[in-house]
Amino acid sequence: MNHFAEFKIDLENFISELNQELKNNEEKVEKLLALDTKTYANFVKPLQMMDEELEIFFTPLSHINAVSNTDATQKVYSESLPIITEYSTKLSQNLEIYKVYKEIDKNESASLNYEQNRVLELNIEHFEHSGAHLDDATKARLQEINIRKSELSNNFSQNLLDATNAYEYIIDKKEDVEGLPVSDIASAEFDDDGVLKYKFTLQMPSYIAYMTYGKNQKIRETLYKAYVTRSPENAEIIDELLSLKDEMSKLLGFKNFAAYSLAGKMAEDEKSVLGFLENLIQNSKEQAKIELAEIQKIAPLTLQSFDSGFYSEILKKEKYDIDEEEYRPYFEQKNVIKGTFEFLNKLFGIRFEEIQEKLWDEKATSYNLYLYDKLTARLYFDLEARKGKRGGAWMHNWQAHCTDAEGKEQLASAFVVCNFPASTKTNPSLLRHDDVVTLFHEMGHAIHHMLSTVNENEVSGVNGVEWDAVEFPSQFLENFAYEPKVLKLLHNTTRQMKQSRML
Ligand SMILES: [Zn+2]
Repeated sequence: MNHFAEFKIDLENFISELNQELKNNEEKVEKLLALDTKTYANFVKPLQMMDEELEIFFTPLSHINAVSNTDATQKVYSESLPIITEYSTKLSQNLEIYKVYKEIDKNESASLNYEQNRVLELNIEHFEHSGAHLDDATKARLQEINIRKSELSNNFSQNLLDATNAYEYIIDKKEDVEGLPVSDIASAEFDDDGVLKYKFTLQMPSYIAYMTYGKNQKIRETLYKAYVTRSPENAEIIDELLSLKDEMSKLLGFKNFAAYSLAGKMAEDEKSVLGFLENLIQNSKEQAKIELAEIQKIAPLTLQSFDSGFYSEILKKEKYDIDEEEYRPYFEQKNVIKGTFEFLNKLFGIRFEEIQEKLWDEKATSYNLYLYDKLTARLYFDLEARKGKRGGAWMHNWQAHCTDAEGKEQLASAFVVCNFPASTKTNPSLLRHDDVVTLFHEMGHAIHHMLSTVNENEVSGVNGVEWDAVEFPSQFLENFAYEPKVLKLLHNTTRQMKQSRML
């Protein structure tokens, strides 16, 4: 029995397959609504699995559009967005389904388990927050707003990616890269008709290298300004999104978007969120002032935003005799992954086994996860920065652990995406400690998702978890990235690494 969906995508036929799938789903909904007696088992469960299957079909497209973005993925993705948004809005505004859920909740609540009751609760809330109970004109407007919102969010990310890809800064004087780590210089250098030059981009590993070690302030300023002013056209998108969110929230009976957003989160209300932030500022501002003054002391002129990384690094070296680059060879990516798996094995009793399969990029890898020798989940890694890949790091859940309508078990799967320095044939990918923390953070999300034993997919793993609570497992795991015992696991082949760094 195959527990996992195969990662494959047929861009050419995606839209027609999607339309077919949605048409089938609509027919399925009609059939379910026509049942004489509707129960959790014969109504809610099949609907849940229908959603799960759609997710399984759609996620590979959003995934490759984010990590291997091309004209072809963009075209199919932007074409699919209004289709899928219209479908899901219509479904969540369906008053008939809403009424059935309420009815099932009333009749069966006492005999259902905690997971099943939570599914009902979340669905009922979702129908109400989508306007199932409102009049047709309002529903139609909410539908329009949703489609426009998805289109704008996609344009926003695409603009940012395009702007990041389009930029490069060429340095032709060797002295301007002096002081940069050997590995960063190696990543930047290229041969321009027999002349050695250095290319810096706005992709994180390259950008951060110059901002931390580049001694030419003018270049730091240029890079910094290019970075913070990427895709200025997004300003208009932000304005439109804000006004759409405001309109939507008011149509749904909320005071504003903050109130709408908090209705599905654990934080009580706007006051408690602002209070939390206020408290955080109170507690950190004094310390921040002290640290800033300390950096200011060693900077020749008034410290600018594009100087703080550079002088912080110098200060760190002076004060603690810590040279970030000195311990970077200890964090060679492959060793870090190996050590992280070892650590997770000690902590949770899980084991990862690499699978040999062709994925969307040659740097991507996949693993089967075993819990005490029982096949439990599948993990996909795509950890290195490259063109056509969105910046940042994230965990994207794909399948969720559950049992389907026939009681057959489905296992969970997840993607972990980062933007670590790219490895080449001659240069290993050397991480900063920050990168290790990021990996632990995303692995926290992945573990949360993959180790779920819940049988209802809508509340399994990260599904259905409030967005402010979902960060708990990830932040919890981050803490281990500072533990000496854990750090030792990450560099078990130090000697080899030191040698390969000399290449
Ligand atoms: Zn997170």
